[in-house]
This record gives sequence, structure tokens and C-alpha cells, in this order.
Amino acid sequence: MNILLLGSGGREHALALKMSQSPLCGKLFIAPGNAGTAECGTNVNMGVSEFDKIKSFCLEQEITLVVPGSEEALVNGIYDYFGQDEALQHIPVMGPSKTGAQLEGSKAFAKLFMERQHIPTAAYREFNEETYEEGVAYIKQHSLPIVLKADGLAAGKGVVITSDHDEAVEEFTQMIKAAKFGDASKTVVIEQFLTGIELSVFAITDGHTYKILPEAKDYKRIGEGDKGLNTGGMGAVSPVPFADAAFMKLVEDKVIRPTIEGLSKEKIIYKGFVFFGLINVAGEPFVIEYNCRMGDPETEVVMPRLQNDLLELFVAVNEGKLASQQIYTDQRAAATVMLVSKGYPEAYEKNKQISGIPAPTKDQIVFHAGTKQEGDKVLTNGGRVLSITSLASSLSLALGRSVQTANQIEFDGKTFRRDIGYEFI
Ligand code: ATP
Repeated sequence: MNILLLGSGGREHALALKMSQSPLCGKLFIAPGNAGTAECGTNVNMGVSEFDKIKSFCLEQEITLVVPGSEEALVNGIYDYFGQDEALQHIPVMGPSKTGAQLEGSKAFAKLFMERQHIPTAAYREFNEETYEEGVAYIKQHSLPIVLKADGLAAGKGVVITSDHDEAVEEFTQMIKAAKFGDASKTVVIEQFLTGIELSVFAITDGHTYKILPEAKDYKRIGEGDKGLNTGGMGAVSPVPFADAAFMKLVEDKVIRPTIEGLSKEKIIYKGFVFFGLINVAGEPFVIEYNCRMGDPETEVVMPRLQNDLLELFVAVNEGKLASQQIYTDQRAAATVMLVSKGYPEAYEKNKQISGIPAPTKDQIVFHAGTKQEGDKVLTNGGRVLSITSLASSLSLALGRSVQTANQIEFDGKTFRRDIGYEFI
């Protein structure tokens, strides 16, 4: 198979490495990629939503599978773009249709879907410009804390949680009247605050059946003890100790199966990964969000624990034969620690030389995120720079090894958290 993988983060390095290890892998291209993906295949200077360029490239290179890493190309309709073009129809895209990607692209769409399929989620209502006054009245009588969400994609910044009614009204007004997040906040979802501990559960589906992949928990705040600003993710662990067989059965029965069956019943075309952002409320799973792709940095702990040939799974998805597959998981624990640039998640510097990256071993891999190769040097090229994943017999051992390597790698302004997975250690 000749593969085009779209993206440039740690997630894409983890996916590229996993695919490159398959005997089914022919040529592997990554657009735009980073210094790590360049070691698994060939980087191509092309944006993930430049569909016309992607088309020409796929035809020239005889690509036989396209794998979007992030939601961007999926929400922009890459599945439909390929399906509607005679020259491209034979090339499968590993992801949902544009409508399926709305599970991530529109929170109101996801909420309505969960309502129709009786999937547990926070009680909510949605409002827009026309129903603005109703929304204000709804907020004023709502219990606190209250959660406001811009409907569309807002780079992880569109969610506001506050314990102050006036602040909630102000935020709501900013979103609807002042287009704080542009079109993304033309509609606002207002929902009940749920108290519990979050985790990420992943499945892969062919649209009819599904297989559950190892679960993970990520750590979003910049500071230790979950303090400070939100980031794309500072680290992750897998497995998640409270996600035992009893809890995962509830997740499967109440969330995963109803989701996949619901998509099929509603004739929404969906192939590939489904990411369930869940919260455990007194032992019961509730859906906080859906994503239509794998998480980053969760992929950096999930892929190293997945023992299957990923391309075999993708082939089974395309052929509608996922039911015949079984998932094999490395029983060791995995912890990943993200090294970030000084200043991140606000303004940060780039082009700092990185040194001391160790070669991969059977129990540690350093995944590249915001890096680029220049001559024989590897330079920082983003806020999140490297994701150090270790596997060990316990979470604390895995974390210890990742932190040790985090100390050894050098670049100017290097910052990281030493407490990833702290609740479980
Ligand atoms: P991201 O892209 O960062 O994953 P997002 O912008 O898609 O997030 P959500 O995942 O829906 O938005 O919400 C962001 C965070 O806000 C959640 O990870 C969770 O910590 C918190 N949150 C969202 N909804 C609720 C809720 N109903 N109750 C409690 N916390 C919530």
C-alpha cells in the first residue's frame, strides 16, 4: 500500500511509525510532517486541506490510502472530496464523511445525536442570535458552575466554565453578539457542569462494527497539579486505572455501541477512529465530547501499546470486515511527557537546536511534534516539541523513565511536567 498521512504532530509521528512497521506498507508520505516522520517515510510540503494539491499528489504517487491525522481535513470534507471525484474514488480515506465529522465539528450536532440515541451526556440547550434573550434568561436561572461552548471548532478555546452568572452572560454575549470565535460561536451550547474524572476512550469502526483500542488520560494544563493555562496536552498515560472491566462495559453498552449503531441507523458514513471524551461521574460514563480522529498526546501512548498491525486494521475497515479482527494490547503501562517551548501556550520561540534525543528502544520512543530538520540539525518548530513515551511494568516506572529522558534532552527554554498521571501513582 502507498500511504499519504496528513499532519505534523506527535500523533502523526506515532501513526507514521506504526504504519511503517507493517509488512503491508509500501511508500509512506507525510504532509507536511516533521523531523520524526521523515525517519518513517518522506515528508511532502503540502497543507492538510489543500485538496487539489493532495489530489495531484495521490495520482502521481499512486497512493492507495489517505490517513488524516487531525480533524481539520475531515471537517473540511476530504472524505466526500475523494468520494465525489471519479479519479480518486478508488482511494479510501481513513475517516468519516463531512457529516460524520460534524460529531466533532459542531457541538450542537453532537448533542442532538446523543439525545436521539439516548447516550448519556450533560443536560443542555443551544442558543443563537435569534434566541439570545432566551439564552440570557436560561443562564440567569441555571445552577453553577455553568458550561458555555461555542458550537464550532475554536482550537480548544471555545469552552468557558464559570461560577458567576454575570460572567456567563458576558461570555455568552461576546460569543453571540461580538462573534468572539467567528462563525464557530454563532450557536452556543449551554450545559450542566459534571463533576468527575475525565478519560479518553478510542474505537475504530467500519461503520457497522467497532473495536475498542487502549484507553488513555491526557493532562491539558501547562503547570504541575493541573494549574495554569490550557494547552494541546502536556502528557498522557495508558491504561487508566479506574477504567476497569466493569467501567469499560458501561462505556461500551451506554456509549460506544449506541454511537456506532446510531451512525449506521442514521446512515451517516463513518469509517476510522472515534474518540470519546468521557467523564466518570460516580462510576457512570458521560460523553463530554466526540472527536473524529485520535487524540494528541493520547496517540503517543495508545499506538505503542497496540500490538496489532495498524494497516491490517485499516484494510479490515475498508473492506467492512472489522468484525473478524481482534485487538491485542501490550499489558505494560505507558506514560508520555511532552517537552514544550518556553512561553507555550502563549507566544513562544522557535528554531532552537535540540540535542540528546536517544535512539528508540523496545521500551522508549521519543516522538517528534513541533520539530524540523535543517541540514544535520533538529530545530524546534512549534509549541509542543517532543513527546517522550516509555513503557514499563508500572505507571510510576514508565513516568520515571520519561522524566529521566526529558532531563537529558536539551533545547533552549525546554519546559515539561513531571507529574503526568499523578492521581494514579
Ligand atoms: P478540546 O479540543 O480541548 O478537547 P473542546 O474545545 O472540544 O476541547 P470540550 O472537550 O467539550 O471542548 O471541553 C473542554 C474541557 O472542558 C473538557 O475537557 C472538560 O475538562 C471541560 N468540560 C466540558 N464540558 C464539561 C461539563 N459539562 N462539565 C464539566 N467539565 C466540562
